[in-house]
Amino acid sequence: MVSAVRTVLGDVSPADLGVCDAHDHLFFGSPRLPGQELRSVVAARAELAAFREQGGGAVVQWTPYGLGRRVADLPPLSRETGVHVVAATGLHQSVHYDEDTLAGLRNRLAEVFVSELAEGIGTSGVRAGLVKVAGGFHALDAHARWTMAAAAEAHHATGATIAVHLELGTGALDVLDLLCGRLGVPPHRVVLGHLNRSPDLVVHRQAAEYGCYLAFDGPSLAHHATDWRMPDAVRALADGGFGDRLLLGADTTTAAARSVDGGPGMPYLLRRVRPRLAHAVGEELVRRILTENPGRAFGAEWRRPGR
Ligand SMILES: [Zn+2]
Repeated sequence: MVSAVRTVLGDVSPADLGVCDAHDHLFFGSPRLPGQELRSVVAARAELAAFREQGGGAVVQWTPYGLGRRVADLPPLSRETGVHVVAATGLHQSVHYDEDTLAGLRNRLAEVFVSELAEGIGTSGVRAGLVKVAGGFHALDAHARWTMAAAAEAHHATGATIAVHLELGTGALDVLDLLCGRLGVPPHRVVLGHLNRSPDLVVHRQAAEYGCYLAFDGPSLAHHATDWRMPDAVRALADGGFGDRLLLGADTTTAAARSVDGGPGMPYLLRRVRPRLAHAVGEELVRRILTENPGRAFGAEWRRPGR
């Protein structure tokens, strides 16, 4: 079967992604973070254009169900800027939702994920290309276990990759034990995010040995204390032979973090993070991390559910 990345404009060959920001947000809004929403289409277009100007070719948006994805705006933005965009289904931590929303999903979460991956999100006709879920701080609560079980079910039905928000970069091994151990998701269909927020190189290596993808993101004001250790963490993994498992993203989550509104934003990933990493692990590996690895991580052999 042929592997494809499911973008908002349709399935594309992994080789066509180009330089990929593997974890970011064009739109995002949580009741937990009032006043910081990413909801301006004009700003999203400017950010994508600035990323394109630095050589960017694709952005994977990790915004899950119910958090202001604005999916109908994604296809025109992708078309206008020439940047591939991948949308997500999935569910974030419970604090980001009201009780009614969660109650309404109680018995049909996997069904929602599968439908958004296979049929489309809402009435937009735009299909999600990954499932995003979240762990907790060094722990997986009942909500996390519920969403991960649904994500695993959606993976088995469709082939989609599961991307995981690790709270402050923690809980990697518990997530892998659950998703890959108990729930039977192949490790190469799992992407762990935010590892730079907990720069324990031993845990990074243990997670890599599992066979999952490891995504580093930022820098961000909130995680300045650990962001500077990212090049060393990436080098340690590269030295260990895990260069083909690494991904990079800018993870812009607030309006003030956009390059057009302060920064660092999406273009910074290519303008400054890329050369800094090249200094640590060489230009050739950085090229592969930005181009080949995302295509493998998010490219899936899509199955039609129920067949
Ligand atoms: Zn994110």
